[in-house]
Amino acid sequence: VTEPAQTFDTKAIQALDTAHYLHPFTDFKDLNQKGARVMVKGDGIYIWDSEGKKILDAMSGLWCVNVGYGRNSISAAVYQQMETLPFYNSFFNTTNVPAAQLAAKLVEISPPQFSHVFFTSSGSEGNDTNLRMVRRYWDLLGYKDRHVIISRHNAYHGSTVAGASLGGMRAMHAQAGLPIPGIEHIGQPNYLESGRGMTEAEFGIKAASWLEDKILETGPEKVAAFIGEPIQGAGGVVIPPATYWPEIQRICDKYGILLIADEVICGFGRLGTWFGSERMGIRPDLMTFAKGVTSGYIPLGGVMVSDRVADILIEKGGDFNHGFTYSGHPVACAAALENIRILEQEKLIGQVANQTGPYLQQAFAQLASHPLVGFANSCGLVAGLNLVRQKAELQHDCVLFGTEQNVGMICRGYMFSQGIIMRAVGDRMIIAPPLCISVMQIDEMTGLIRSALDQTL
Ligand code: PLP
Repeated sequence: VTEPAQTFDTKAIQALDTAHYLHPFTDFKDLNQKGARVMVKGDGIYIWDSEGKKILDAMSGLWCVNVGYGRNSISAAVYQQMETLPFYNSFFNTTNVPAAQLAAKLVEISPPQFSHVFFTSSGSEGNDTNLRMVRRYWDLLGYKDRHVIISRHNAYHGSTVAGASLGGMRAMHAQAGLPIPGIEHIGQPNYLESGRGMTEAEFGIKAASWLEDKILETGPEKVAAFIGEPIQGAGGVVIPPATYWPEIQRICDKYGILLIADEVICGFGRLGTWFGSERMGIRPDLMTFAKGVTSGYIPLGGVMVSDRVADILIEKGGDFNHGFTYSGHPVACAAALENIRILEQEKLIGQVANQTGPYLQQAFAQLASHPLVGFANSCGLVAGLNLVRQKAELQHDCVLFGTEQNVGMICRGYMFSQGIIMRAVGDRMIIAPPLCISVMQIDEMTGLIRSALDQTL
């Protein structure tokens, strides 16, 4: 692990940033007053800011740097592809070598029902593609009314108009007249929020039954698909009870509706399996991916398409009037191929399943003894803990802080000053560290979390 050699004029960079850069999901005025923290280098699980401070990145950037920072073999693959053929599109009957190779590799590592892939540059575009693809699928089968997609409150499926509509973030819907028509939302399987008086297993079945209720309310003949993240990430790492997803699968099968797994966070090893659907025991018809496919080194996303859907699109479809300039971008695909090679060669996914995932689970269970933590849980290498004003034996009896307190943001500030990045979603503090994290580094991480919690007390 090497310190950044170059020194930076933080104030000068911040001045440029403030004057000209409108950041995503940011209160512009507030940021202008504070100035952004400038990140300048990464190595393994660590990043450095322009003041030379070393930070343990427990969020893998934005849930994406799965193989960790500073992988020279990815930059070499990218450089080589840039020198050979920096761009060529996949429109008008052309392809390129890395796109074809990556499509085959993705089919190889995906569950057996997947035979094809559609490339995009992001997860949002992947979910736009899902919307177009499922509606086209049902049209081609002669069901022109079967256009409704059911999603969940507090889901995150991206920031394009279709992605944000499929998502269930109230704050996003409020600003742009979303969701667009033809999208319905049901409750999320959040035991802490809605499971009082039930066991987790009972609650899982109950939360899945909301899907059947919505299908019946909408009219089964109108419902095209259900979309969900195996574990809701941006919504606060909502880990569903084990009974939830199998019941969702049963309901989708019963009504013949397509199941879309949004694997943008869970895909590429985060839960100790290539895709989160495998860990949850479901068999989706479409899977959105992005982030971990290149570990964020270069933008790339897409949709894995099962035989069920691909066969209809290919046999009956004619032109599919959808696609992006950068679909199958050769440089992004070269980065993905090398990223997947690293995941395989270093057996990082097995490491999450058998070593670091269970170790993190234990470490988080210990954090639950902290006076400020009401509840902590994890699955693979995603984890979350709830800050509470007063602990109680039963989760549902803990006294929460309430949103006006903003304790999560205060705690996040202490995390930053301790040298660790953790994300706050209300009073829930969440992490998703790089998959290359070692057990010693998990100890270091939970030590930093504990001292920031002490400061927040
Ligand atoms: N879907 C999920 C589950 C996500 O977490 C995200 C991003 O965080 C997206 C989709 C959107 O991906 P992108 O930001 O690449 O458009």
